[in-house]
Amino acid sequence: MMRDCKNIWKKCLDLIREQVPPRTFKTWFEPVCPIKLEGDILTIQVGSSYVYEYIEEHFVEILRDALKATIGKNAKLQYSVVMANNPNVKTTATISSAAVEKPTSAIVALDKRNAGLKNPFHSVNHTVEIDSQLNTAYTMDNFIEGSCNRLAKSAGMTIAKNSGKTSFNPFLIYGGSGLGKTHLAQAIGLEVKRNTPSKAVLYVSVNLFQTQFTEAVRRNEINDFLHFYQLIDVLILDDIHELAGKTATQNTFFHIFNHLQQSGKQLILTCDKPPVELTGIEDRLLSRFKWGLSAEIKSPEFETKKEIVISKARRDGIDFPEDVVNYLCKNVQNNVRELEGTMISLLAQSTFNKKDITLELAKDILGKTVKNRSKELTVDKIQNVVCEYFHISPAELQTKTRKREIVQARYLAMYFCKNYTKASLTFIGNQIGKKDHTTVLYACKVVSDLVDTDRKFKAHFEELQKMLYINV
Ligand code: ADP
Ligand code: MG
Repeated sequence: MMRDCKNIWKKCLDLIREQVPPRTFKTWFEPVCPIKLEGDILTIQVGSSYVYEYIEEHFVEILRDALKATIGKNAKLQYSVVMANNPNVKTTATISSAAVEKPTSAIVALDKRNAGLKNPFHSVNHTVEIDSQLNTAYTMDNFIEGSCNRLAKSAGMTIAKNSGKTSFNPFLIYGGSGLGKTHLAQAIGLEVKRNTPSKAVLYVSVNLFQTQFTEAVRRNEINDFLHFYQLIDVLILDDIHELAGKTATQNTFFHIFNHLQQSGKQLILTCDKPPVELTGIEDRLLSRFKWGLSAEIKSPEFETKKEIVISKARRDGIDFPEDVVNYLCKNVQNNVRELEGTMISLLAQSTFNKKDITLELAKDILGKTVKNRSKELTVDKIQNVVCEYFHISPAELQTKTRKREIVQARYLAMYFCKNYTKASLTFIGNQIGKKDHTTVLYACKVVSDLVDTDRKFKAHFEELQKMLYINV
């Protein structure tokens, strides 16, 4: 019997398809990528923690049944998430699923070490396959070109064809958050791999690099660490502004940089500002950053935004009417990540409420997010307002007490955070009483049930809503 992960996932999909509307299926299940099957544990990859939470929130039962039917009663599900909450940390999180097993409180364990390389510093053999840590969704084809990024993209293509042999070394991509630096840097890596599979490509964020470095120092394995990095043919170091103030890490990187450059290896760096504006980084390193080519990615212009939205919608198999596309592109100003976030909210709303994606819905959603953003309602502020309302201290909200009044306040705070901020369930739970994301979901359910059934509760709820509104 074939029990590879693709087969198993395909069988799950066949079962799930029968139980959800076609659009839901297309949106939430088709893009999921099965990664591995180990024993009874199936690992699937989803595009963001938002997608993970959404699937967990809405399709737990269906998933559980499908997994049990295909793998057996001991089936377990793990998610691998490309973390999107913190744009500076793109790494893999392994999450055990509530779908099959109630997870412990540390749901999203950012397993930074594993996200790197399995015992990386012992692979001293040149032919050793290293895991590039590239996200296969970030391709050149998917990276829409416009005047905002043309130079960066075409330089990237050139490098991908002749890595290390051009004068674009290092190649530094800089620009504001959410404009596609990580995407482009990874796309170059994928292209190199496609052209020459034998090349050792490695994508690593400065944060991960730093963690690995610290760990190597602690274990007295710094030579292995250096040796490992010196074997890389194309090193992509993401978010080098994070090096600021970290002298020891800078020093180490300086040596790796020199070694790679002198051996004709390619360096690709990304940064959230032009190198001249970088502070907290040693001059000798800074000057090296400027040796090759720096290319800026700017905010996309209207036409490019439009193309991005259309291309993404097409990939997801969803139809966004033209007026909606135009509206989104006109109103989401700054960055592509926000644009994608709005598309996802729109999709989620339309799937959840079984409404079509219309201009009206788009206005509704954008109205909400824009309003929230302009005055920024945060998890902290919501906690304060709720505490003030119930005359309790914020510290009490954090205690483990089961006192009804406090529990009620905590649930309400969680509900408003979930609905009025963009914070993830995991973050909200962590901030409010160190609870896990399932508690937050549970709280939201309790609150909406009570609003429907308990008049007194509803009065509290509405009063709080007003207070928050004033605070917004
Ligand atoms: P940065 O690293 O600059 O903060 P990312 O590379 O993470 O930004 O991009 C944010 C999101 O926007 C990603 O999902 C990425 O795929 C998307 N994106 C950015 N620029 C483009 C583009 N030109 N074409 C398609 N998608 C893009
Ligand atoms: Mg990035």
